[in-house]
Amino acid sequence: MNNIEHVGIAVKSLDKSNKIFAALLGTSHYKTEEVKSENVRTSFFKSGQNKIELLESTEPEGPIAKFIEKKGEGIHHIAFAVDDIVSEISRLKEEGFIILNEIPKKGADNKLVAFLHPKSTNGVLIELCQEIAN
Ligand code: ZN
Repeated sequence: MNNIEHVGIAVKSLDKSNKIFAALLGTSHYKTEEVKSENVRTSFFKSGQNKIELLESTEPEGPIAKFIEKKGEGIHHIAFAVDDIVSEISRLKEEGFIILNEIPKKGADNKLVAFLHPKSTNGVLIELCQEIAN
């Protein structure tokens, strides 16, 4: 596992939160992207080496909407960059972690992603992401 690739934050309104994070970080988001399979709209910010992903639900029943309903807005996941997502998934599975999707799927920001269930990681949803080679 490599560096933290980004921190994902669940928000009610991308428009409102884009303004808050632009003011906070002193820079605007550099992209907005809808991930249909996850029912989310995302925007990405860069702060130095680090990235922040804001996530807004596009569906009242989507995973982000449900998260906000339960816990309110806030940190939703931490994403780690990996070189080989398939081998990381099998390594972590062997370690006893619960993998939510054992077959990596296409996420935002040109990445293959997989998630670990928070039950197996002290309540933190962990995302693995591997850059898709162009
Ligand atoms: Zn993410």
